[in-house]
Amino acid sequence: MEFPRYATFAQSFANTIPFSEGIGFIAKIDDPEKDIDYVYYVTAHEVAHQWWGHQVMEAGVKGNAMLSESMSQYSALMVLKHKFTPEILERYLKYELDRYLSGRAFERKKEHPLEFVEGQGYIHYQKASLIFFALQDYIGEDSVNAAFRRYNKQWKFKDAPYPSSADLLKEIRKVTPDSLQYIIHDMFETITLFENKTLDATYAEKGKDNFEVTLKVSAEKMRADSTGMETPIPFNDWIDIGVYGKNKAGKDSLIYLQKHKITQKENTYTINVKSKPRKAGIDPLHKLIDRHSSDNTKGLVKK
Ligand SMILES: [Zn+2]
Repeated sequence: MEFPRYATFAQSFANTIPFSEGIGFIAKIDDPEKDIDYVYYVTAHEVAHQWWGHQVMEAGVKGNAMLSESMSQYSALMVLKHKFTPEILERYLKYELDRYLSGRAFERKKEHPLEFVEGQGYIHYQKASLIFFALQDYIGEDSVNAAFRRYNKQWKFKDAPYPSSADLLKEIRKVTPDSLQYIIHDMFETITLFENKTLDATYAEKGKDNFEVTLKVSAEKMRADSTGMETPIPFNDWIDIGVYGKNKAGKDSLIYLQKHKITQKENTYTINVKSKPRKAGIDPLHKLIDRHSSDNTKGLVKK
């Protein structure tokens, strides 16, 4: 349902989604390979509010937007994931990452971890997109959905007392394996940032359909406090290492992607791939919150 662009938002009601003409009706989405169909995305977000915010109302406490806005962001992101190409999704996540980083740079009071977000859009929308996307990548989409389903079942159509972010985290904890429990602390309970980059990337042709990539990467993990002070912390994390080749259309496409346990700053990997590699790097899909995301991959130089 269209309304004039005195305001630019969309909202979810029981049978209608009012949508400003300023954010949907003038959208220009011509190339489905390149343009992010944000009208589709925003509509999915609003429909998701029928569950997150409508069926389940949240308590009016810190972290409440994680249960309405962030859960709707995640639901819409999964709709996007199943409808569009991984490249579109990657572009969208990069856009969310940039907006989160600039949002925190302009914070005038205190940045909170997601579980205690206090009306800060760059956290409950942008950071939440990144976090919930990474969460389903690490523990599996089915597991995140199972946690959401149990949370919905327990709290829907109920009067006070309403749930807080701790109630959702309890369900997420249950579906997260022991080896990955640390990501819950990083993602929801603290402000955790990474500084991952590729230092050196070469390859050698070892024979027919056999290429050996040598990759030197550097990884750092930091905790920030509410004023933005960052402290490096030791880590023991699973991080993606990826190698790209070219697909038939001449576009970059992943030919190797695997999580490696990283425990020290500098690491060297030797990876064998079957087709000619073009570029490679650490966390190439920007799943982690990285202060400089453009240096994660590097073009490969032939040895
Ligand atoms: Zn919303």
